Amino acid sequence: MGRRLAQLANLPASELKGVGATKAASLGKMGIRSVLDVLTHYPRRYIDRTKEAKIADLEVGEEAAILVNVKRSTQRRTGKGKSMVIVTVTDGTASMDVTFFGQPFREKQLQPGLDAVFFGKLELYGGKRKMTNPVVDLIGNRTGRILPVYGQSEKAGIASWDIARFCEETLRRAGDFAEPLDEALLDRLDLVARTEAFRAIHLPESMAEAGAARKRLVFDELLRVQVELVRRKRELERTAVGIAHVVGDGGGPLVKRFHEVLPYDLTGAQARTIVEINEDLAKGHPMHRLLQGDVGAGKTVVAVSAMLVAVQGGHQAALMAPTEVLAEQHHLGIKHLLEGFTVPDTDDGNLFGGAGMDRSLRVALLTNRTTAGDRRKILEDMATGNLDIVIGTHSLISEGIEFKSLGVVVIDEQHRFGVEQRAALRDKGAGDAMPDVLVMTATPIPRTAAMTVYGDLDVSVLDELPPGRTPIVTRWAQNDMDEVQVWQQVRDEIAEGRQVYVVCPLIEESEKLEVRSAQETFEELTSGELSGLRVGLLHGRLKSDEKDAVMTQFRAGELDALVSTTVIEVGVDVPNATVMVILDATRFGIAQLHQLRGRVGRGAAKSFCWLVGEAKTPDGEARLEALVRSTDGFELAEVDLDLRGEGTIMGERQKGQNDLKLASLRRDREWVVTAREIAIEILDTDPELIKHELLAEEVDLFLKADDIDFLMKS
Ligand code: ADP
Ligand code: MG
Repeated sequence: MGRRLAQLANLPASELKGVGATKAASLGKMGIRSVLDVLTHYPRRYIDRTKEAKIADLEVGEEAAILVNVKRSTQRRTGKGKSMVIVTVTDGTASMDVTFFGQPFREKQLQPGLDAVFFGKLELYGGKRKMTNPVVDLIGNRTGRILPVYGQSEKAGIASWDIARFCEETLRRAGDFAEPLDEALLDRLDLVARTEAFRAIHLPESMAEAGAARKRLVFDELLRVQVELVRRKRELERTAVGIAHVVGDGGGPLVKRFHEVLPYDLTGAQARTIVEINEDLAKGHPMHRLLQGDVGAGKTVVAVSAMLVAVQGGHQAALMAPTEVLAEQHHLGIKHLLEGFTVPDTDDGNLFGGAGMDRSLRVALLTNRTTAGDRRKILEDMATGNLDIVIGTHSLISEGIEFKSLGVVVIDEQHRFGVEQRAALRDKGAGDAMPDVLVMTATPIPRTAAMTVYGDLDVSVLDELPPGRTPIVTRWAQNDMDEVQVWQQVRDEIAEGRQVYVVCPLIEESEKLEVRSAQETFEELTSGELSGLRVGLLHGRLKSDEKDAVMTQFRAGELDALVSTTVIEVGVDVPNATVMVILDATRFGIAQLHQLRGRVGRGAAKSFCWLVGEAKTPDGEARLEALVRSTDGFELAEVDLDLRGEGTIMGERQKGQNDLKLASLRRDREWVVTAREIAIEILDTDPELIKHELLAEEVDLFLKADDIDFLMKS
């Protein structure tokens, strides 16, 4: 058996010859403490000497990494007293001056005779070639065709060459590495052995070797994460006691009836998802499923269907929405959908066995606005089982509310419903049983990211919109001329009896400023572009009943336009609204714009979305262009991932994953899928990882308990 990573993790970096107390402290500042940290401080990039750029060949304006030798280095002050270091370098083809502004340390750092890699743009100044403030990598006098360039820290006084030396020493002293994966598996996936991977990532003979090494190490990282996620998920399935709901023919009597009375047919995606959920519900362990579906895909019907499975078996269901406005809207909608539904008024209420009298199926709303008297009654009815479905905000479960037997919980628009919140549900079912949980989100995240972010959840996707929707036409109004058109169209649509949303600029720093800006926009519009029309104002600082009054008016068609902050982002459903105007649209992210746009296009009439404002950055431009081009939430999520990188998409959950040093959920999409498959394959045959001792050790090593807890909780 070769060297285990756990052994290297136990060796402080100071064990390496080149690392004394000072260097050890410096490395510590870079987060490098153990020899394993050194080994996994992978090169940032490589310089391929066979394809090296030469000063003499560079075009003006071209960006390149050049390997140079320092001839001279002098320091001066600019007229304004700023430090200016001028370094003369050569690469054998030509020499040039490189200027560093405000980096006085460069004079000492770049001593004559030193080899370094400069990455920058070639400029021409007074007929001479030069570079200004290039990135400098101190690679030392290294031989070899491919030079690794490491992330260094000028502040800590650690150069790329230091790391290179430490890595070489580590590799030499470590010898062969223990191999956690079967040779057959490596063959099947065309992966190199670990010993080879660690060598070639640091000391590749060719770029192809470095690429193969990266592939193997990326796979290792992703596999560890997936093994842990799949293991956790199975553990939960094994230990938590759920309710094995009776899902009869067509889903059971209430479910069947519900589907029959719907004024439309289920979409294929709805039908498929309902089957997936019903299969989960029938199992003896609690469901924990994420339902992803674009805005307007019809998630509510799926949710109600799941809740009715609970109700028809004599259990209760709860639906939690992120805001009171949404809770109210769900309450109205669901009450309407379930009008005239009855359940047997027997002790256990079980529709499969009951022969008693019927009573109406009861749906209640419980929010902060519920009066004390109503509240008491609702709580009492929940405890006795007289209430079948309760709808509220996310605080519903945290309030120590007692259910007789909570069978299904639906959480709308909170994809971050983790183990902690689930734990709060543990004793809400009958006896020890834990209710089944369905989490719904309209924020599509790419499938591969979902596998890592939600690796502990099962995922269903509503990837089909109900028929008859006319796609929303999205336009970008970049200048005043365009804007004239925007308001013209707004007035035209209103004249046709349609309604309009106007979303005010997002001001992330302060809700107060945002509210003020909304008020200003409201005043400007009512005395200008929208004068004479019935316009309402909605923002986060309104009292609940004020918000409610405005929403009720808008829903009833008593307002032509609603000027609003992003409080209308999720869930608001007014089919008669056909125009969405988003002011200062570049301030919003892709997902948010897509959500906002989803407020229109909910009826049969053609709808429009106007993105107003100039893009201030290339990214901003790319975002708005993507929205104009596509109404597909998943496609947009991919664009978002490309533009922002996974860090932002993964949000908090990402932080726990410090094992992902090389792997990128973006670049390595297919490998996420493969890693998931292999993790399942391994755990299927070896659930305790007895035959994969080394893999188990590494999972524990890299995904330390609190990290993964954080990952699961978020
Ligand atoms: P979301 O997924 O955004 O929550 P909703 O559940 O609010 O979507 O549904 C959006 C609209 O589509 C609602 O007005 C709903 O009545 C309608 N709808 C849902 N399912 C279908 C269907 N299968 N056919 C036609 N319309 C549907
Ligand atoms: Mg919804």
